[in-house]
Amino acid sequence: MHTLDLGAFRLTSLDDGSFPVAAAVYFANVPDVVRRRELATDLNGCIEVGHNCGLIDTGGERVLVDTGYGDDTHGGRTGRLVDELDRAGIAPDDVTIVVNTHAHGDHAGRNTIHGVPAFPRARYFLASADWDHFSARADDVHHVARNFGIPAAHGMLTLFDGPLELAPGIHLLPTPGHTPGHTSVLVSLLGRTALCLGDVCHHPLHVAHPDWVSAFDVDAARNVETRRWLFALAYAREAVILCPHAPAPGFGRLRRQGTGYAWVPLQS
Ligand SMILES: [Zn+2]
Repeated sequence: MHTLDLGAFRLTSLDDGSFPVAAAVYFANVPDVVRRRELATDLNGCIEVGHNCGLIDTGGERVLVDTGYGDDTHGGRTGRLVDELDRAGIAPDDVTIVVNTHAHGDHAGRNTIHGVPAFPRARYFLASADWDHFSARADDVHHVARNFGIPAAHGMLTLFDGPLELAPGIHLLPTPGHTPGHTSVLVSLLGRTALCLGDVCHHPLHVAHPDWVSAFDVDAARNVETRRWLFALAYAREAVILCPHAPAPGFGRLRRQGTGYAWVPLQS
């Protein structure tokens, strides 16, 4: 758990856990010899992948961005979100809004607990394009019913299309590609800006190499386009960025590198 004080709001990174993933999966279109020049792996060709959720606290709102793996703990390695919130002094009742950047299980697994919404006073938000896409996939029906159907049955889920201002200064930006309804969260208050990226990037190297794509993207070409405009926006706004799958805490900024950008990690 790491918190950045950004003036009118605080951004906390909540470490849901980590485990190794094959680097070749995260850079699916990159020859091994090219990738190895820039990225060290373990003996199995894996990199340790973080799972960072975000909490935006404006005093008036406490917006939880993604909910981690939930009950899918990978042998105790993941599913730590609620403990991390507790360490941050936040009870589940204190969360006013839950945003899922997309409907994948590593970002929505703790939307519910024991068959009820895990954040009982929160409004939940998901892009309708992700609801439609994942509801239609046999492999995802159970997960969608558990993590989105239950909040919907409690009247707590809002499906949205296009950009949306959740609360003053807190914007949902459509960033499609990784999934059809993928959404990033931009906070801009009193001259300070933060961006919860979601899976626009799976790794900081995707900043310097926006055309290196992950095997997990539904539409990789669209995600490359999304990256280019979102990086330009983040750089122009001098945004503090939270990257979910970077090593914890996953905070960084962009700096200019050639005609593009590079990732500069930040410690809180
Ligand atoms: Zn993910």
